[in-house]
Amino acid sequence: MIADSHMHTSFSTDSETPMEEMVQRAISLGLTDICFTDHYDKDFGLDFQQEGAKEAFQLDTEPYLRSIERMKQKYEGKIEVRAGVELGLQLHLKEWLSNYVNQYPFDFVIGSMHLLDGKDPAVSGGSFPRDNQKELLRRYFAATAENLDNFHDFQSLGHMDYLSRYLDGEAGAYSYSEYSAEIDAILKRLIYYGVALEVNTGGYRSRRALPNPKKEVLRRYRELGGELITIGADGHTPKQIAYGFDRISELLLRCGYTYYAVYRQKKPEFMNLVL
Ligand SMILES: [Zn+2]
Ligand SMILES: [Zn+2]
Repeated sequence: MIADSHMHTSFSTDSETPMEEMVQRAISLGLTDICFTDHYDKDFGLDFQQEGAKEAFQLDTEPYLRSIERMKQKYEGKIEVRAGVELGLQLHLKEWLSNYVNQYPFDFVIGSMHLLDGKDPAVSGGSFPRDNQKELLRRYFAATAENLDNFHDFQSLGHMDYLSRYLDGEAGAYSYSEYSAEIDAILKRLIYYGVALEVNTGGYRSRRALPNPKKEVLRRYRELGGELITIGADGHTPKQIAYGFDRISELLLRCGYTYYAVYRQKKPEFMNLVL
């Protein structure tokens, strides 16, 4: 794998890494192509009662894009640097999201569901009820399909089973068959709307040590005719760049994929998966 299409820098609330350190590490790993996808979760703190939450995960877009442009020029010939963003999906943001993605010259936009009931499990894991986690996951998948119908002017759906990373035992280690209706609803919408499914290897760093989504779901998407995938390690530090890339090609080849997509100016270019 030579391209990592999901990574964060100090422009994101949850990273302190200067952009240039990410570029240098990617070059030293032998990557030839990276895409920065810093967070913009508008109205992140709307229902989330924590100090500072309202300002969290907001992106100062213009300085961010200028910084990417500088990296592009400085490292031209050594690595391709693309400009992306990871947008938090919420139903009431439809109009704002539509305007935002067209306001700036992004190469690649990831749409991600970080919030359920206005809360991000990564930030407020403890405040989700522990008693009916299977129902939470079911609602999370249903909300994802609903958000896709609401807004789908982006290139890839980020870490589709994100919530499962933060759930306990059985609920977190969910099986596709238990949620087949909800998951199929998401996968069919992706195919219908021409949105890629992201394979997020950042999941290998979580306690479950699985990609997001898990293998069963990747198989199912392929079975339904889905073939548009993007790959990203969701690194927030230089060490996390390309994390898990050593195992993901084999898994994807076994699931029936032969290539993955890299987006430039929102158009996919296809790269072969090789062992
Ligand atoms: Zn995310
Ligand atoms: Zn991310």
